[in-house]
Amino acid sequence: MEKMIITVGVTGSRISRQQTPHIPILPREIAQSGIEAVKAGASILHIHVRDPKTGLGTQDYAIFKEVVDRIRSEVDCVLCLTTSGIPGRNLAIEQRLTPLALKPELVSYDAGSINMGENVFLNPPEFLEALARGCLEKGVKPELEIFEVGMVYTCLRYFEKGLIKPPLHFQFVLGSPAGMPATPKSLLYLTEIIPAGSTWSVIGIGPGQLPLAVMGMAMGGHVRVGLEDNIYYSKGRLAKSNAELVERVVKIAREYGREIATAPEARKMLSLS
Ligand code: ZN
Repeated sequence: MEKMIITVGVTGSRISRQQTPHIPILPREIAQSGIEAVKAGASILHIHVRDPKTGLGTQDYAIFKEVVDRIRSEVDCVLCLTTSGIPGRNLAIEQRLTPLALKPELVSYDAGSINMGENVFLNPPEFLEALARGCLEKGVKPELEIFEVGMVYTCLRYFEKGLIKPPLHFQFVLGSPAGMPATPKSLLYLTEIIPAGSTWSVIGIGPGQLPLAVMGMAMGGHVRVGLEDNIYYSKGRLAKSNAELVERVVKIAREYGREIATAPEARKMLSLS
């Protein structure tokens, strides 16, 4: 089986210190947590940054740059910068595209709108088209985040129009309240409808994180773990760090016989420029 790429969702945009004291918020904390996760075996870091005053997600260029510079100066990894801002707060398109200026190898591409609690996480066609065009211009690959099956078909339409170039890379996000549930059936279905030659990774939200990671591993896919998606190590016990969550999947993969991809290997497998 192909080597396994581990991505880490380092912090997301909303989890607070009240929920877990281990969530990184300041730029140096986010960078440090990501660096530790890479040292533990992750090859891709999915990065959001936070406004130090509010603690919430921001698309501020200077903060992104500080985090990116700190990470790049210490470890070799693939950076996947978020374009979501804060899901549900719906920042202006130009703000959401800010991270493209830092020339990451990947950016998140949330392929449709979806309810998030009392809010709607808006990803209308004008945003998706602007992001796809921005990616083409800057040579950045979109990581196609799929919360429900219709989002796959949205991506396929842009693929047919030439706005998204193959090979496609999907990130299946399973277990969010309004998306597909974190079940084997969801994952099986999604992996069967994507174009041949695509790569995929899976996120299980909350208690779905470990089961979906193990399933993705067994199916030959790639996995994402991290505090953005799940703050617990086990029932009632908070994860101490992103690295701790990475270490666990590395350990399971070793036992299972799946080798872990380094950053250069991940670049090759995902056809990154
Ligand atoms: Zn994210």
